[in-house]
Amino acid sequence: MTSVLHGGGPAPCGAVPGPVEPGAPASAVPSLPVSGVFVALEGSPRGLGAAEAAGRRISHGTNDLPAFGRRRIWPRLAAQFADLFAVMLLAASAITFLSYGLEQPRDPATLQLAFAILAVVLLNAGIGFAQEYSAERTAQSLQAMVPRTCRVLRDGERQELPARDLVPGDLVVLEAGDAVPADCRLVEAQEAAVNNAALTGESDAVARVADAVPPGPLLEARNCVFMGTDLVAGTAKAVVFATGAGTEFGRLFRLTAAAPRQQTPLQRQVAAMARRVAGVALATGAVLFAVRVPSGQPFVDTFVFALGVMVALVPEGLPATLSVSLAIGVRRMARRHALVKQLLAVEALGSTSVVCTDKTGTLTQAEMTVVRLWADGAYHPLTGVGYAPVGEVADAGPVRELLRAAALCCDARLVPPSGPLGWRVLGDTTEGALLVAAAKAGVDTAVEEARSPRVAEHPFDSVRKLMSTVRREPDDTYAAYVKGAPLELLARCVAVDRNGTRTPLTDASRAEVVAAADELAGQGLRVLAVATRRVSGPRPALDDAESELTLRGLTGMYDPPRPEVRDAVDACRRAGIRIVMVTGDHPLTAEAVARRVGIVRAPDPTVVTGAALDALDDAGLDALLDGAGELLLCRVSPEHKMRVVTAFQQRGEVVAVTGDGANDAPALKHADIGVAMGASGTDVAREAAVMVLLDDSFASITTAVGLGRSVYRNIRKFLIYLFSHNIAELVPILAATFTRFPLVPITAVQILAIDLGSDVLPALALGAEPMEKDVMDRPPRPRHERLFSAGVMGRICFLGGIQALGVCAVFFWHIHASGIPATDFTKDTPAYREAITMVQAGIVVSQFFNALAVRTDRQSVFRAGLLSNPWLIGAGCVGIGLMAAISYAPPLQAVFDTAPLNATDWAVLAGFGALLLAAEEVRKWMVRLRRTSSKGEGR
Ligand code: ATP
Repeated sequence: MTSVLHGGGPAPCGAVPGPVEPGAPASAVPSLPVSGVFVALEGSPRGLGAAEAAGRRISHGTNDLPAFGRRRIWPRLAAQFADLFAVMLLAASAITFLSYGLEQPRDPATLQLAFAILAVVLLNAGIGFAQEYSAERTAQSLQAMVPRTCRVLRDGERQELPARDLVPGDLVVLEAGDAVPADCRLVEAQEAAVNNAALTGESDAVARVADAVPPGPLLEARNCVFMGTDLVAGTAKAVVFATGAGTEFGRLFRLTAAAPRQQTPLQRQVAAMARRVAGVALATGAVLFAVRVPSGQPFVDTFVFALGVMVALVPEGLPATLSVSLAIGVRRMARRHALVKQLLAVEALGSTSVVCTDKTGTLTQAEMTVVRLWADGAYHPLTGVGYAPVGEVADAGPVRELLRAAALCCDARLVPPSGPLGWRVLGDTTEGALLVAAAKAGVDTAVEEARSPRVAEHPFDSVRKLMSTVRREPDDTYAAYVKGAPLELLARCVAVDRNGTRTPLTDASRAEVVAAADELAGQGLRVLAVATRRVSGPRPALDDAESELTLRGLTGMYDPPRPEVRDAVDACRRAGIRIVMVTGDHPLTAEAVARRVGIVRAPDPTVVTGAALDALDDAGLDALLDGAGELLLCRVSPEHKMRVVTAFQQRGEVVAVTGDGANDAPALKHADIGVAMGASGTDVAREAAVMVLLDDSFASITTAVGLGRSVYRNIRKFLIYLFSHNIAELVPILAATFTRFPLVPITAVQILAIDLGSDVLPALALGAEPMEKDVMDRPPRPRHERLFSAGVMGRICFLGGIQALGVCAVFFWHIHASGIPATDFTKDTPAYREAITMVQAGIVVSQFFNALAVRTDRQSVFRAGLLSNPWLIGAGCVGIGLMAAISYAPPLQAVFDTAPLNATDWAVLAGFGALLLAAEEVRKWMVRLRRTSSKGEGR
């Protein structure tokens, strides 16, 4: 949480944050020469010592920002009363209180209703507030699960640390794709560029240098990088000069208001539906009023009644139930290693129809071992597995120079076992494998590094597919060490190493190298070529360092497939989801791996390279993506990925795409579901994605799609459940009105007791239903399918219609059986009280069966397991218990005008509920029958 160096309060953006040391202001940091930076910031080219860093952490605090977007409680609570429903209900309550005041004689029922409506508003606000608060907490805890680490030098050793442990003076090592963890001054930069969008809004990459610049505003200093921005190209080393809240970003952060909460399309659809129902409620109230007053009902009574019906029909709790259900989905996904950063992704996941996946780490374990080499015109096997440098190389002589050159072109570091951890790689696993292979061939990388120190480098990028370092050789000459994709590197070679002599490349020897690369790739190995050349000075331009090269040989590394991926791929096939592998790797490697994990089964999949993609126009690309054939895109760059994602989307597909590098960010942002890797991905990719896989595995994407589908289904279940009983509440009232029965079959307070009492818990339990087994056995939901489709509306009417018939029957049967003429009924007639109790209990009991019925839409609930959601059974029992209390407890009888029901009454209601379940089973059976016969006809 600390600010710059040695104190000073917060300063305005870009101004002097505080003194560097007595007499040296921090604004002077950009204009210091590199050597002066270490002195002024009390750092060292070897990084801080552990003890010094620990001391500074105590005095400066952790490199954290305060929790984001915490708004104060009261304004948030007040906001709950400002939405449309709340205002409507508050107005209704005020009018009811007024009616009570004007009534002669005053009816306590009116007062009860006024209080009941007020209680509804308070309850709703409470639920909404709690829900919003818990969603925010969930978002924060998920955020905390995304790793935020950085690399630093401490005591001369490169280490990976949680970013919060950084202190001023630390020497940070940055690579393309890293989020800048604190405000830092560069002391080394190789082709470095940052994206400052988070700070300045400027989204173009801007170059960064290490040299001193003239004094000026801090944010414009070209040799500084700031927290919240990203290094998008190159590599750099930088000394931290401000951490936590003391950074420029920290200041901006304090000024930023809470991020606006966006509604997902699903939430918008439900809110729109709720508004429509509210409109119907208003209209119904008006009709009831208009019909009942001319028929001689007292004016105020009728008004209060109509108002009560309106309030009762408004689906108040619906938006909150929806958000809870989405949030449950998010939590379930997090438990299965898929962190979803936006609720929006939960529903998009459910309709994903294409997954563009990369290979290394997602389909494979990213645990590379060099198993075969090609040097000096021959293949050389290598033994040993994993990162332990234990194994043997046949003919170590010819391959030694190849592996020495490869090792001298690596940024990664091999870390010896410590504690429970075995040999590990810090950095790129491909490079780790090369270091291990070099060690097996007897190359001591540390000694070689010391003999030929690095003086410059051209970092790897996935467009060039090459990386090079420049080193000063013991004889004071300079040499470039280059490694990269075989075809890209071969194109820059003019000679090949044969028996230690430089032999010019001929067409025949080129063909021999290509054949060797194909042979290794055909075995599913990742192939890297290695080359070297003499250069004239310590800082050759990229084209000088990476041209006229001498090829040293090829390395082939094995990366075992993840065992869980095969099942996940099968699940995608069954679910109608197309998997397209998009990789920078060699076509043969890609095909071999795709076969191993089951993505490719046909003998002749379509394999297209990036160069071939470039040759296609948009119509050609569209034709390529047409159909459901097996498609592998190889040797592609992130730009190709972006183009393919866009083309799929234009075809109406919902696309999930994985990515890990900084330049994958556009494709990740553009896709419907951008998926970044939590363990191996770059910070930039993780920021751009809406989903982060904690375990990097393809299988987690499939699981998340299944959960996304199941969330959507659950939402449909509780919508059918909630809206169908509205029909059961409304129809008896309309029936009584139009048959001119003087009283109502169910009172407004009873309806409120159902809506906010017995129905709430089952709706939540439906929203939390476990994933159905067949969820991945159907094709994806069409992109533009509406939540309230004809099918859903049909089921609402079917179930609601049966419920309505049932409750009308019990009501009028009770009235009729009493033998009292309709005009003689008053509110206190015992038969009337029994009848309205039967109506309320009828709805509650039938809702219990309805909740069971809506759990499946085609399958029989008995097959799905009638009791398999214990929460639902429990919630239904609570509802029935509440109803029993309303029927038997004298204080509640007084409030609800109810009467005790007898055993026969309950038996009748249970029979009626069972009938509803049976009718729904018949409907499902007919649907299944129709589907089987239409499949038969199709055959
Ligand atoms: P994958 O789908 O396997 O994850 P990718 O799409 O991430 O691959 P890149 O990382 O862009 O592919 O790599 C493309 C090619 O560049 C690789 O096939 C390899 O030959 C080469 N390559 C990868 N890493 C390095 C590196 N560190 N140095 C040099 N060349 C590399």
